[in-house]
Amino acid sequence: MDVTADKIIYGNIHTVDKDRPKASAVAVADGKFIYVGDETGAEKYMGEDTQVLRYESGIIMPGLGEGHGHIAPGGTEALFMVNVFTGRSLDEYRSMIKKHAQAHPNWDVILGTGFLPIPDLFGEDGPTADMLEGITDKPVVISDIGHHSYWVNHAAMDRLGINRDTPDVRDGIIVRDAQGDPTGYFREGAMDLLKEYTTYTVDQYKEAILHYQEEYLAHGETLVLDPIINWDNTDNAAIACHELDLEGKLKMHIYAAYQIFRAEGHDTMAEIEHAAKLREKTRGRMFDLSNIKIQVDGVFPGNPSTAYMKEPYTDTWSKKNHYCGQLRFDPETLTAVFKRSHELGFTVHVHAIGDGALSVTLDAAGKALEITGPHEYRDAVTHLQVVDPADVPRMAGLGIVAVTDPHWFTMENEFFYDMVVPVLGEERAEAQMPMKSFFDAGVVVSSASDYPVENPAYPLIGMQKGVMRQFPGRPDTLHGADERVTIEQMINATTLNVAYQLLCDDRLGSITVGKEADLVVLEQDITGCEPEHIADTKVLRTMTGGEWVYAADQSDD
Ligand SMILES: [Zn+2]
Repeated sequence: MDVTADKIIYGNIHTVDKDRPKASAVAVADGKFIYVGDETGAEKYMGEDTQVLRYESGIIMPGLGEGHGHIAPGGTEALFMVNVFTGRSLDEYRSMIKKHAQAHPNWDVILGTGFLPIPDLFGEDGPTADMLEGITDKPVVISDIGHHSYWVNHAAMDRLGINRDTPDVRDGIIVRDAQGDPTGYFREGAMDLLKEYTTYTVDQYKEAILHYQEEYLAHGETLVLDPIINWDNTDNAAIACHELDLEGKLKMHIYAAYQIFRAEGHDTMAEIEHAAKLREKTRGRMFDLSNIKIQVDGVFPGNPSTAYMKEPYTDTWSKKNHYCGQLRFDPETLTAVFKRSHELGFTVHVHAIGDGALSVTLDAAGKALEITGPHEYRDAVTHLQVVDPADVPRMAGLGIVAVTDPHWFTMENEFFYDMVVPVLGEERAEAQMPMKSFFDAGVVVSSASDYPVENPAYPLIGMQKGVMRQFPGRPDTLHGADERVTIEQMINATTLNVAYQLLCDDRLGSITVGKEADLVVLEQDITGCEPEHIADTKVLRTMTGGEWVYAADQSDD
């Protein structure tokens, strides 16, 4: 006698399992898929209490994944910060911050995010503390939209004793005026000086993660990597995930990376050891701190840009100084990081935006591989904005996953021509963010958003952007037409390949007998609809571990 199914679902099932790509029935028991096939075959699993759902249209797919989304800080941002993203002038920023401060009179520090660090708004030297005067007496700390700098007021610097005598930091920039006084703009590693303000409690993180989970389950997401679980330099977010897991409240598989640094005040290798202890302490059914994250370079555009390029940036200053950006890890340390991480069972997750950073990373990964021999850690590089075509086959050879950002593929012309082309030059700017090239070379490609840099960052939006590389009806926002991928490739990149990246494809990522029953029911078949309608497809239901964790219409439960 076969087991009885808890649930049988009939419909157009896209399994992402290459041995059986299509099915019309799936049966679930004890949290797993016990049958995938045709309707007749499903009948023998039918019992008195089996819930039966039938979908005449639409598509049923594996639960959707996010290869790199900062869910813990994103959640705290949504709950505890003002987002000034929609502001278009200094006055608008100021009034949004002021309103937020007035709405939360008991908060000791006013936190925000989302300003655009561009000369049009702030002048060449960036935002200043003076620009925040007259809003509140409390410390104000606002991060830019890419989370690579803080703009703070005088109260924030005064309380921490940051002044002319504060020494410069090696991996960041304290912007100073002619007298040497910090102006209130702290970039990259210099942001650490303000970390006291941007720390949250375990309870706040629990609230934040549940907030994210509720919103994203409703958009079909069941698997995510939080790439910097120690965002605020504490273990609080990891502990929060662990507590939620123990309480049975995690309904989404959360994998996490612990970011380590090569900078003053950091013992790089000791941080890996700490991460290993934290992993042991927090590993559970739905949460695993399984990655070490390193940021090998910075970002562009900036003043100066900090992503590490093979050739100098093309703005006047960079050309004159032959400036290529900043490498935040030396090659020897990088190799040691790969080696030690693997010894401790970690996957390495690398931020590389410039082609120089990617090459140096691949050199180090190759060296480490020679030392340790073949392994199954699925190290990954993310962002991959400027890529030397010669490095694409190298990634395939080294078995390194390309965690691409389809959510970034659309660019307003204004941003592209006014901000990016001047620093990269037209050719490098146009060739940014390949995706198809990785698929063609046999690299495993997964999809990510870098949430909350992209917000909202629903997986269906990413799928649409990967296919179109432009906003619907906006051919002026098209970039890299040759790098468009198919919807099938986007589905793979958003399901099985994220599971592969996170080393859980043996139990997640496809609708396969024996795997955990994570799936999503979409109202329309995104493999057949017009690409401009992929993103507005309605999610009808989401299941993780055989349990409905979201239903647009609760009535038929
Ligand atoms: Zn990120």
